[in-house]
Amino acid sequence: MIKTIVWGENVHEQKNKVVADIYPDGMHNHIAAALNNDPEISATSATLQDPEHGLTEERLADTDVLIWWGHAAHGDVSDEIVERVCERVWSGMGMIFLHSAHFAKPFKRLMGAPCNLTWREAGERERLWVTSRNHPITAGIPDSFELENEEMYGEPFGVPEPLETVFISWFQGGEVFRSGLTYKRGAGNIFYFRPGHETYPTYHNETVQRVIANGVKWAYNPQPRIADPNAAPNVPVDEAPEKIEERGPRLHEAGEEGYR
Ligand code: ZN
Repeated sequence: MIKTIVWGENVHEQKNKVVADIYPDGMHNHIAAALNNDPEISATSATLQDPEHGLTEERLADTDVLIWWGHAAHGDVSDEIVERVCERVWSGMGMIFLHSAHFAKPFKRLMGAPCNLTWREAGERERLWVTSRNHPITAGIPDSFELENEEMYGEPFGVPEPLETVFISWFQGGEVFRSGLTYKRGAGNIFYFRPGHETYPTYHNETVQRVIANGVKWAYNPQPRIADPNAAPNVPVDEAPEKIEERGPRLHEAGEEGYR
């Protein structure tokens, strides 16, 4: 079973009746319940309001894939937790960022870029096209599918060039957007998936649910986590894989813990 946490900031569900009516249990619990229909996935949820945002060292150590949805309260996420999440990704945990998580602190930290885009809230139609047909994330997904009402996100999207582009979107108003992008950061697999504005029932859509479940399976790395992803050990001259003659001059002591 792939142990998955769906993290939600859980703000609009509490304040906005439209959102609360679409997701009475919260978006995080709704997405987790949909994932639990998949026999390979075991999903729980966590929110901004939980102690340590529900992301304690112990819980993250026992998590294979973390899914992140945030919008109104990115700034309320503790920098200490952001760093903890990024360290886990570098150690090999998978991570999926949904919709407005493009501006979430951990996404910006992992991308090292502004991650900005253009947007419009008009309930317009979005058509997503598969751009990587045999990719595991597109398994069982038709070449294109539509969401009747969505928020528009448009290019240029200020992210680094991805490892793979899995989906692009067309919007009724004319813009296009790279809607499904994969990255590797350290040992961790990252998937960004665009749809999911909170005032539309996007996460009730079975195709969207399938993409997220596929994303969990793709991001999952079954290998043991790397204990210290920041380790930069010195290899002394006499421990080089091949015999070498030291030429000097030398600035550092053999075996010292430099460059941390
Ligand atoms: Zn939105």
